Amino acid sequence: MAKYAIIDQEACIGCGNCEGLAPDIFDLDDEGLAFVKTDQNQGSVPISEDKVEQLEDALEECPTDAIKVADHPFSEQD
Ligand code: SF4
Repeated sequence: MAKYAIIDQEACIGCGNCEGLAPDIFDLDDEGLAFVKTDQNQGSVPISEDKVEQLEDALEECPTDAIKVADHPFSEQD
């Protein structure tokens, strides 16, 4: 099943763990907070299958649980 990810920037402390573990998915913005690169943190584009392992590693190592993952686009939760 496709996975979608988004960063809750209110919770992110900019530790850089996600970017280090999953550099193809995450980057840090000008304020040092993480975002999902593929869809500008909208949670609208599925994470490609070959990156899901990276995603799971980052999820485990985020100290503030700021990385949110779902089986559907985040826009559909509204
Ligand atoms: Fe932010 Fe979590 Fe990524 Fe650290 S691992 S930069 S707290 S989202």
